[in-house]
Amino acid sequence: MKIGIDLDGTIADNLNLLVDTLNTHSGKKLLGDEIYQYNLCKVYSITEDDFINLMEQREEEIISTSPVIPYARRNIKQLVNDGWEVHIITARNPRYAEITEKWLHQQGIPYRGLHLLNSHDKLDVCKELKVRLMIEDNIHNGYQLATGGIDVILYDAPHNRFWPWKGTRCRTWNQVYNSISNQR
Ligand SMILES: [Mg+2]
Repeated sequence: MKIGIDLDGTIADNLNLLVDTLNTHSGKKLLGDEIYQYNLCKVYSITEDDFINLMEQREEEIISTSPVIPYARRNIKQLVNDGWEVHIITARNPRYAEITEKWLHQQGIPYRGLHLLNSHDKLDVCKELKVRLMIEDNIHNGYQLATGGIDVILYDAPHNRFWPWKGTRCRTWNQVYNSISNQR
């Protein structure tokens, strides 16, 4: 049994670091809880080029210093103990493979495969791997995967909270684990 797990916003809590970075850049003073959509360019009224430039400067630091989302480690370990093969499937650029592996190792997150796609399109990889389900916080990825026939648990976040979602939504990693062990 294979399970796909997104990284940023699902295992790594990068939202507040991103918001801090964009606040500094734009002079705004938003809180993570005020980010109601995934597209930060729209939230901050900046161009995609601006955003890319900013991330080139700051992404490595954000990746290296993001805390782990509460109870993710314990519950992912439990999933592995239950026989799940964990595949971390992320839109991060493959140039961050090494620091991503280092972070996962430091945080004690067990996994079999790490897939850095440099794209939000995760459907093909999920199908190729034949994951039984994917845990994801990006609502747009969630829509695409669900439409493509992948079972998705949406990990709750301010930027997906006000978007319609017919599938399972979990607010904590304990809920994620219970949902998987009860229903699948
Ligand atoms: Mg994410």
